[in-house]
Amino acid sequence: MARLDTDRIRKDFPILSTTIYGKPLVYLDNAATTQKPVQVLDMLEQYYREYNSNVHRGVHLLSQQATAAYEQARKKVAAFIGAAESDEVIFTKGTTDGINLVASSYGRKYLQPGDSVLISAMEHHSNIVPWQMICEERGAVLKVIPMDKNGVLKLDELPGLLDEKVKIVSLTYVSNSLGTVNPVHEVISQAHAKNIPVLLDAAQAVQHFPIDVQELDVDFLVFSGHKLYGPTGIGVLYGKSVWLNDLPPYQGGGDMIKTVTFAKTVYNVLPYKFEAGTPDISGAVGLGKAIDYITELGLDTIREQEDMLVQYALTEMAAIPGIRFIGQAEKRSSVVSFLINDIHPYDLGELLDKQGIAIRTGHHCTEPVMDYFGIPGTCRASFAFYNTTEEIDLLVAGIKRAAAILQG
Ligand code: PMP
Repeated sequence: MARLDTDRIRKDFPILSTTIYGKPLVYLDNAATTQKPVQVLDMLEQYYREYNSNVHRGVHLLSQQATAAYEQARKKVAAFIGAAESDEVIFTKGTTDGINLVASSYGRKYLQPGDSVLISAMEHHSNIVPWQMICEERGAVLKVIPMDKNGVLKLDELPGLLDEKVKIVSLTYVSNSLGTVNPVHEVISQAHAKNIPVLLDAAQAVQHFPIDVQELDVDFLVFSGHKLYGPTGIGVLYGKSVWLNDLPPYQGGGDMIKTVTFAKTVYNVLPYKFEAGTPDISGAVGLGKAIDYITELGLDTIREQEDMLVQYALTEMAAIPGIRFIGQAEKRSSVVSFLINDIHPYDLGELLDKQGIAIRTGHHCTEPVMDYFGIPGTCRASFAFYNTTEEIDLLVAGIKRAAAILQG
């Protein structure tokens, strides 16, 4: 397997050579959002400078160029996730938007009073609240696959939970606060054995390892461009065409229609049926470029590099006095959640920030996970392929320094 030339790669990310309070930036908040390579930044600028125009509407050349670039980006996404057709790729604002789309559209059509939606104990709020909202509207209930103290799903409880009332399973592939990689193949196969569709929240997955939606046989999959080295404001909903053709539109407006009269509207075909209004054209084009970038590096190589980084971090951090890791799954991504004695995560995060080290603190939009562990939040360091073991050394030294100050 090719090893990454991190020194060269870091030059692609201008922000990584900036300073914070006069200290070199150590950016370890990649699970919140990743930095953008210059190739993506240039692409965004090129789009606005050279062919900014609205899509799908104009006969003029600029509009044709913008449309071609936008649709080309859709093809890149389809190839990236192994979709059978690019019409199965819907551009959204992000993961949250994609889940709201499915919850609303699927829920309105298929949820009846007394039905249930099955999620897991480690979902991000964006895979809880949209389902709660539609459940409330439809008189359905939310059920939860529990987890254990290591942050691993209790899969033995799944068969009992998958009763005939469950109309959809919506599960995160990778936990953003624990790092757990869930056994999604197993969940999908058990759900499908009972004809229950599955949505995967891949917000913390697509940037770390290769994903093939046909091999997974997943019904819906969502992710955000900004966690995949692309711009904010753009995301993807993949859906099997049988589902997307079957479901009602989410929002009404321009582009999602074939014909409109005051008496009746005929909806457009896929993918436009789910893309009402002017889309985030530059975002899609930028995301296409980000996909080119990481495809060139190779997701297997990225996974290997990030595995090395997280193993190094876990080993080095384990020697910090008073450290407690939250989430100890064997199959994990490059996220490390931790606490040091009874130091509040926010205090530690603030002192690390003063040393130029960016981590995340708090509940990470997974309050039920924090409640389960009986903690207010965690400190979370999350690594990308451009991070280095030297940066992890700085993190470890920074934590020790901060802890010494905070514990007197
Ligand atoms: N799900 C998971 C697992 C996430 O990590 C995040 C982002 N932290 C989201 C959903 C929401 O993503 P976005 O805010 O980009 O919609």
